[in-house]
Amino acid sequence: MSKQQFVLASNNAGKLREFSQMLAKEGIELLPQSAFSVEDADETGLTFVENAILKARHASQLTGLPALADDSGLEVDALNGAPGIYSARYSGEGATDAKNIDKLLDAMKDTPEALRTGRYQCVLVYMRHALDPTPLICQASWEGVILTERRGEGGFGYDPIFYIPELGCSVAELCAETKHQHGHRGKAMRLFFEQLHSLLPA
Ligand code: IMP
Repeated sequence: MSKQQFVLASNNAGKLREFSQMLAKEGIELLPQSAFSVEDADETGLTFVENAILKARHASQLTGLPALADDSGLEVDALNGAPGIYSARYSGEGATDAKNIDKLLDAMKDTPEALRTGRYQCVLVYMRHALDPTPLICQASWEGVILTERRGEGGFGYDPIFYIPELGCSVAELCAETKHQHGHRGKAMRLFFEQLHSLLPA
């Protein structure tokens, strides 16, 4: 039987790498939207759910394929949930992971350790077609603490300053498999597969 094909509604290299690693074991071929020259959708929503729907609809509309989108970010309690849905663009025009981390460390330079709590959020949306009125929505989070300086070389985004007390290290110090096992994206993906298997023909 031919593999089920989806388009992944993201051009984020870190996310693409994580999705490919997680999907290697499933009988699913996830094609990045860049393979169809699809540019990123405008994220005009005010919630992770709205933005994930906008991305999935955009990719499905332009490719004619079912689409999976991820909208994710870091919520910091001491900053009232910022950077949140703006995590990728936190440092403004020309934002990079390095600049976003610098801005966050600066915004939290006076925040004591006990108040440096936060969480990664991930919302996955799967749309069978661009007009799908009942998108599949899966959400998961991962609690941690914001470090005062970078630790580790792996991962992407805020991983070098996101510390997991139970694991005793930053996310950038984890191997990919451990990140998928404990992380927000891995948890949301497992919820997605549970529901997807009941949607697809056997
Ligand atoms: P999005 O592509 O608009 O969903 O933005 C996601 C942003 O949230 C990324 O660019 C990172 O800044 C942050 N983010 C989401 N997931 C992760 C993760 O697993 N590690 C580190 N940063 C993440």
